[in-house]
Amino acid sequence: MSGEPGRLDELSAFDEGDALLRGGVRSLLKRYDRSYFLACYRDGREPDALWRELCAAGYVGTGVPEQFGGGGAALDSAVAVAEELAAAGLPLLSFIMTELCLPVIARHASQELATRLLPPIVSGERRLAFAITEPDAGTNSFAMKTTATPSGSEYVVSGRKRWISSAGNAEDLFLVCAAGDRPSSRGRRPLTILMIDLAAPGVSTELLTADAGTPERQYDVVFDDLRVPAGNLVGAEGEGATALFEALNTERVLIAAFAYGLGFHCVERAVHYARERAPFGDPIGSYQSVQHPLSALWAELSAARALNREAVRAVGLSDASAAGLANAAKWLGSEAANRAADHAIQIHGGNGITDEYDLVPLWRTTRLMRFAPINNEMVLNQIGQHVLGLAKSY
Ligand SMILES: Cc1cc2nc3c(=O)[nH]c(=O)nc-3n(C[C@H](O)[C@H](O)[C@H](O)COP(=O)(O)OP(=O)(O)OC[C@H]3O[C@@H](n4cnc5c(N)ncnc54)[C@H](O)[C@@H]3O)c2cc1C
Repeated sequence: MSGEPGRLDELSAFDEGDALLRGGVRSLLKRYDRSYFLACYRDGREPDALWRELCAAGYVGTGVPEQFGGGGAALDSAVAVAEELAAAGLPLLSFIMTELCLPVIARHASQELATRLLPPIVSGERRLAFAITEPDAGTNSFAMKTTATPSGSEYVVSGRKRWISSAGNAEDLFLVCAAGDRPSSRGRRPLTILMIDLAAPGVSTELLTADAGTPERQYDVVFDDLRVPAGNLVGAEGEGATALFEALNTERVLIAAFAYGLGFHCVERAVHYARERAPFGDPIGSYQSVQHPLSALWAELSAARALNREAVRAVGLSDASAAGLANAAKWLGSEAANRAADHAIQIHGGNGITDEYDLVPLWRTTRLMRFAPINNEMVLNQIGQHVLGLAKSY
């Protein structure tokens, strides 16, 4: 072999259209690179300028039907944007949340609601947050306590959501709550999805103290007898789980792309440093104990990417294998990415924990991806139960 190897965070394109899309995203991310993201993170401000530019260029809502202002493209496009953002070190949590909710709104909201909400979200004029998690229910969404109770032509919403990314910076909230007047069935509360105007009286946000290594902050969102027009319903009342479950595979492949994308970013950083740093004369990258873990990580991240490609194909075909593949890609990608961040810190020695080298925020974000938006135990539960056919374990 001859010549310089390419950068590990420059992911290959799958075809001409894909190359064009990636080229566009990359040129935008030259102006909004990791240093921009990090400055927002350190200054405690949301990366709004980046979001606006992504929307203006058509990189948010690529899968939303054109009649609602989107690109009408297949899921591959959103995954390519996610890969490019992450490989550049820009894991915008809002991207995952927004891309998860948009197709559900497009498919299950009334024509009137979708026409009113989707175009300004896709264009970046309004921001969207997603709320399902609660302080007590956590992973078990069917135990949630926030309720939407029908009252004439409205719903009355009461309760508290936790860990809602960017809720203090958004106008609209995709809210999953329990159908207030319906009984649980087999321990599961029927769910209702409502679109909430975060400026409405009866909604408040409380900033949480947490550090995910990203500029987007998390909030509690509190509902105190909030009145919501019945027209803001997404899907049928009490049938929210059906609408939402359709989107779960999309969320998994997007978070997988974020995870291995960040993993490649970390490996690139580590390799760059390992070529230069030479406390004993030879670059530390020439030592097998430094080099082999990097080679193994590159192999694992590449495998996660290949598997995710299979998952995206299966999701597109609504194939029964989609959930297992998407979960496997999420697991493989997030575990490898977190090890990549950890090994990058290790081979940077003391520099690994300095602000200057900016590796600890990457470790935090890759660590997060092992338990959010879904923890890796639940991912393995799904594979154990539905791919391997073993008994439900929880
Ligand atoms: C930075 C950040 C951003 C987030 N953004 C959002 C957002 O925008 N919107 C939103 O709704 N939520 C958001 N979340 C919430 C996130 O999705 C939850 O943290 C996650 O779903 C898990 O809930 P929990 O933290 O309450 O953990 P718990 O449900 O308490 O679980 C704790 C741990 O127990 C184990 N565990 C749980 N259940 C099982 C099981 N059945 N089998 C085996 N092990 C299990 C796992 O190790 C798990 O990590 C965010 C969280 C963070 C930290």
